[in-house]
Amino acid sequence: MNSSTASIALITGANKGIGFEIARRIGATGARVLVGARDEARGETAAAALRVEGLDARFLRVDLDQPQTIAAAAAAIDAEHGRLDILVNNAGVVAPGDDRPGQASPEAVRRVFEINFFGALAVAQAMLPLLKRSKAARIVNVSSGLGSLGRHSDPNWEFSAFKVIGYCASKAALNMLTVQLAAELRETGAKVNSAAPGYTATDLNQHRGRQTVAEGAQAAVRLALLPDDGPTGGFFDAEGRLPW
Ligand code: NAP
Repeated sequence: MNSSTASIALITGANKGIGFEIARRIGATGARVLVGARDEARGETAAAALRVEGLDARFLRVDLDQPQTIAAAAAAIDAEHGRLDILVNNAGVVAPGDDRPGQASPEAVRRVFEINFFGALAVAQAMLPLLKRSKAARIVNVSSGLGSLGRHSDPNWEFSAFKVIGYCASKAALNMLTVQLAAELRETGAKVNSAAPGYTATDLNQHRGRQTVAEGAQAAVRLALLPDDGPTGGFFDAEGRLPW
């Protein structure tokens, strides 16, 4: 087991998009970043690109459709490091057929929940024993402003028309995981928060988002690196606290 003092960070869905940038920025602090990806070739390529930048990055297979890869990832981290300091639940999907509540395909809604909520829950549960061994664990759930019930209740909100029940409800459910896990871990010093990247140009939206990945990663990176007096159980974008 490596008892190094450098932070150990796992980011799911880190082979591209916002997750890759989160890994890059956390790695730049000197942490060892475990580049979670479902596909070995994509994950190895991403980790190699980070190593070229001088970062301590390793690919770790985490496929949210395959629970055995989550268990194997936890076992590998345990064997090598004995703990985990930062978990960023970033992997997420949209699904064709997800739509307004009256039109959405139930299969598409289930598919989005499977990854965005159940997948994040499974990773959090598998990593919890390792996170509890960290002196200052940080868990960041990459949510979305589209998961805000408060924002969706405001007809004047700029994304108010974007009512896609599966995706939005899966992120609202992820926010509930944040609140409940933060309460469960309150006495341990661990901090659990939700990050909203903002509308960011990635494959998820065919690069229609208005922000760069550097901007989209900002809130999650800040929450992953929170000092001991930072918040827990909150929902934040790059500007500050968001309504649930
Ligand atoms: P992206 O470029 O499509 O990246 C998504 C990542 O999730 C990829 O690495 C993808 O891996 C991974 N992934 C998908 N299914 C997976 C599975 N079954 N197991 C493991 N990994 C899986 O999207 P992004 O925009 O960076 O999204 C990152 C996070 O930000 C998501 O949670 C998303 O909901 C959230 N978000 C994005 C925006 C935005 O405007 N872009 C706004 C708000 C929130 P593959 O490459 O193998 O598919």
